[in-house]
Amino acid sequence: MTSPTEPKPIFQPDHQAYVATEGTRTEMAWGHLRIFTGRGAQPSETTVGICHINPGCHNPLHYHPNCEETIFVLSGRCAHRYGEGEVMLEPGQTILVPRFVVHNASAVGTEPLELLIIFSSGEREAVFLE
Ligand SMILES: [Zn+2]
Repeated sequence: MTSPTEPKPIFQPDHQAYVATEGTRTEMAWGHLRIFTGRGAQPSETTVGICHINPGCHNPLHYHPNCEETIFVLSGRCAHRYGEGEVMLEPGQTILVPRFVVHNASAVGTEPLELLIIFSSGEREAVFLE
Protein backbone atom coordinates (compact mmCIF):
# COMPACT_ATOMS: atom_id res chain seq x y z
CA MET A 1 0.00 0.00 0.00
CA THR A 2 1.41 3.37 -0.99
CA SER A 3 0.66 6.74 0.58
CA PRO A 4 -0.55 9.62 -1.64
CA THR A 5 2.90 11.28 -1.49
CA GLU A 6 4.94 8.27 -2.62
CA PRO A 7 5.89 7.98 -6.28
CA LYS A 8 3.71 5.52 -8.13
CA PRO A 9 4.57 3.14 -10.97
CA ILE A 10 3.74 4.60 -14.37
CA PHE A 11 1.92 2.27 -16.72
CA GLN A 12 0.87 4.92 -19.22
CA PRO A 13 3.71 7.45 -19.65
CA ASP A 14 2.77 10.68 -21.38
CA HIS A 15 5.68 10.29 -23.80
CA GLN A 16 6.94 7.64 -26.21
CA ALA A 17 9.86 5.46 -25.21
CA TYR A 18 13.25 6.75 -26.38
CA VAL A 19 15.01 4.04 -28.37
CA ALA A 20 18.46 4.70 -29.84
CA THR A 21 20.23 2.59 -32.43
CA GLU A 22 23.16 4.53 -33.82
CA GLY A 23 23.41 7.36 -31.30
CA THR A 24 25.20 10.64 -31.93
CA ARG A 25 28.53 9.79 -33.56
CA THR A 26 31.63 11.97 -33.23
CA GLU A 27 34.77 11.17 -35.21
CA MET A 28 38.06 11.51 -33.34
CA ALA A 29 41.68 11.22 -34.46
CA TRP A 30 41.93 8.00 -32.41
CA GLY A 31 38.52 6.44 -33.25
CA HIS A 32 34.97 7.58 -32.55
CA LEU A 33 32.33 8.07 -29.87
CA ARG A 34 28.66 7.14 -30.12
CA ILE A 35 26.49 8.70 -27.43
CA PHE A 36 23.00 7.28 -26.88
CA THR A 37 21.77 9.15 -23.81
CA GLY A 38 22.83 12.37 -22.12
CA ARG A 39 23.97 15.71 -23.53
CA GLY A 40 24.25 15.63 -27.30
CA ALA A 41 21.75 12.79 -27.59
CA GLN A 42 18.71 12.33 -25.36
CA PRO A 43 18.46 14.32 -22.11
CA SER A 44 18.66 11.87 -19.21
CA GLU A 45 20.12 11.33 -15.75
CA THR A 46 23.02 9.27 -17.15
CA THR A 47 25.22 9.29 -20.21
CA VAL A 48 25.65 6.02 -22.09
CA GLY A 49 27.76 5.48 -25.16
CA ILE A 50 30.29 3.42 -27.05
CA CYS A 51 33.93 4.44 -27.26
CA HIS A 52 35.74 2.92 -30.27
CA ILE A 53 39.55 3.20 -30.22
CA ASN A 54 41.56 2.21 -33.28
CA PRO A 55 44.35 -0.37 -32.86
CA GLY A 56 47.49 1.17 -31.37
CA CYS A 57 45.67 4.40 -30.49
CA HIS A 58 44.44 5.95 -27.23
CA ASN A 59 42.03 8.66 -26.21
CA PRO A 60 43.50 11.74 -24.49
CA LEU A 61 44.33 11.67 -20.80
CA HIS A 62 41.40 13.26 -18.94
CA TYR A 63 39.22 13.31 -15.84
CA HIS A 64 35.56 13.97 -15.10
CA PRO A 65 34.86 16.62 -12.41
CA ASN A 66 31.11 16.07 -12.14
CA CYS A 67 30.54 12.32 -12.50
CA GLU A 68 32.00 8.86 -12.19
CA GLU A 69 32.50 6.65 -15.23
CA THR A 70 31.91 2.93 -15.55
CA ILE A 71 33.70 1.30 -18.48
CA PHE A 72 32.87 -2.21 -19.73
CA VAL A 73 35.14 -3.79 -22.33
CA LEU A 74 33.04 -5.16 -25.19
CA SER A 75 35.92 -6.27 -27.42
CA GLY A 76 39.65 -5.77 -27.87
CA ARG A 77 42.39 -5.45 -25.27
CA CYS A 78 42.69 -2.34 -23.14
CA ALA A 79 45.60 -0.83 -21.27
CA HIS A 80 43.75 1.55 -19.01
CA ARG A 81 45.61 4.39 -17.32
CA TYR A 82 44.22 4.88 -13.81
CA GLY A 83 45.86 7.69 -11.87
CA GLU A 84 49.57 6.99 -12.00
CA GLY A 85 49.01 3.28 -12.62
CA GLU A 86 47.77 1.09 -15.44
CA VAL A 87 45.22 -1.73 -15.47
CA MET A 88 44.99 -4.33 -18.25
CA LEU A 89 41.39 -5.11 -19.18
CA GLU A 90 39.93 -7.94 -21.28
CA PRO A 91 36.46 -8.26 -22.83
CA GLY A 92 33.85 -8.76 -20.12
CA GLN A 93 35.73 -6.75 -17.50
CA THR A 94 34.54 -3.48 -15.98
CA ILE A 95 36.50 -0.64 -14.43
CA LEU A 96 34.95 2.06 -12.25
CA VAL A 97 36.61 5.47 -12.48
CA PRO A 98 35.58 7.91 -9.71
CA ARG A 99 35.32 11.62 -10.46
CA PHE A 100 38.67 13.47 -10.70
CA VAL A 101 40.71 10.28 -11.29
CA VAL A 102 42.98 10.85 -14.31
CA HIS A 103 42.50 8.13 -16.93
CA ASN A 104 42.47 7.09 -20.57
CA ALA A 105 42.29 3.90 -22.62
CA SER A 106 44.75 2.43 -25.12
CA ALA A 107 43.88 -0.24 -27.70
CA VAL A 108 46.58 -2.89 -27.33
CA GLY A 109 47.27 -5.32 -30.16
CA THR A 110 45.80 -5.47 -33.65
CA GLU A 111 42.08 -5.31 -32.79
CA PRO A 112 40.05 -2.15 -32.22
CA LEU A 113 38.89 -1.55 -28.68
CA GLU A 114 35.14 -1.22 -28.04
CA LEU A 115 34.07 0.12 -24.66
CA LEU A 116 30.61 0.61 -23.22
CA ILE A 117 30.86 3.87 -21.27
CA ILE A 118 28.35 4.93 -18.61
CA PHE A 119 28.52 8.21 -16.70
CA SER A 120 26.55 9.07 -13.56
CA SER A 121 25.45 12.38 -15.08
CA GLY A 122 23.52 13.25 -18.20
CA GLU A 123 25.69 16.39 -18.38
CA ARG A 124 29.13 14.78 -18.20
CA GLU A 125 32.10 17.09 -18.21
CA ALA A 126 35.65 16.13 -19.17
CA VAL A 127 38.89 18.02 -18.55
CA PHE A 128 41.58 17.00 -21.03
CA LEU A 129 45.23 17.01 -19.98
CA GLU A 130 46.75 16.43 -23.43
ZN1 LIG B 1 36.59 9.21 -19.13
